[in-house]
Amino acid sequence: MLGRETMRYAIGIDAGGTHLRVARLDPEGNILNKEMLVVGTERTADIFFKTLSEKIRLVAGAHRKDLAGIGLGLPGICNQKEGVIHELPHYPHWHDVPVIQIMKEGFSCNVVFDNDANMAALGEHWKGIAKNLPTFIMLTLGTGIGGGLVLDGKLWRGEEGFAGEVGHMVIEADGKECVCGNKGCWECYASAGAVPVGKTAEGFSKAADEGDSEAKKFWEKFGHYLGLGISNLANITGVEHFVLAGGVSLGWPHFIESAKKTILKGAYPRLAKKIVLQKTSLKGEAALIGCAFAVFQTSKI
Ligand SMILES: [Zn+2]
Repeated sequence: MLGRETMRYAIGIDAGGTHLRVARLDPEGNILNKEMLVVGTERTADIFFKTLSEKIRLVAGAHRKDLAGIGLGLPGICNQKEGVIHELPHYPHWHDVPVIQIMKEGFSCNVVFDNDANMAALGEHWKGIAKNLPTFIMLTLGTGIGGGLVLDGKLWRGEEGFAGEVGHMVIEADGKECVCGNKGCWECYASAGAVPVGKTAEGFSKAADEGDSEAKKFWEKFGHYLGLGISNLANITGVEHFVLAGGVSLGWPHFIESAKKTILKGAYPRLAKKIVLQKTSLKGEAALIGCAFAVFQTSKI
């Protein structure tokens, strides 16, 4: 345990499709204080980083001089080599935004960034349900679907950060229109994007609890599509463990059986029997904890 005078902190940032969370964490990954705000419809990089800087200063408070670094989890294609985020389907104005350069202009500490699902995977691997799993796939079911691939104890980012964009795997030829510009992407069928306009995942979950047949049918179909995507991922990678997080995972009791049924049909029979789906043990905080891990132990992963 570090002495009080030498205690360093990390700032963790989890930017999703609808919410932005900023937290201060200690070297053990404990969240000490946190701020959350809704990301508005205006999502230009200029406004985003201005708001973010204000929140970081607020959360860091008097501890700003003790910051070991800032970790950002962003919902898009993060190119680690260039310090640039190429695309964010849910932030359509962003193209090749130099994240590291922008952050360094405002803060003198170490800055690391990664896809939000990758950060969540690091969090689960460090402190969560995937602690003892060298190989697993993290799936964040929120506004879209994020994927983080931990293979043999290491995050697989792809050559330019494009790995894990599982939400945009086409699952229905010529299907629903996706924010990425394509049609029939997985996240249109197994994330909040699948919920009909005017309804919410939370509302549908409550309705299913009360036995509403429309809601039960919705979750069953949701589970089927979820299982379809997981079957494809398992067949491609041979990964057997999947950790699910994100706001939509609250429908778990209503979709899990349907998902498992589809996996048994969709993945190779021998592999299908070994597939394990687990719910996050870190509630909504896996990405924030992963950001702290990235700040404190970058060299270890
Ligand atoms: Zn898409």
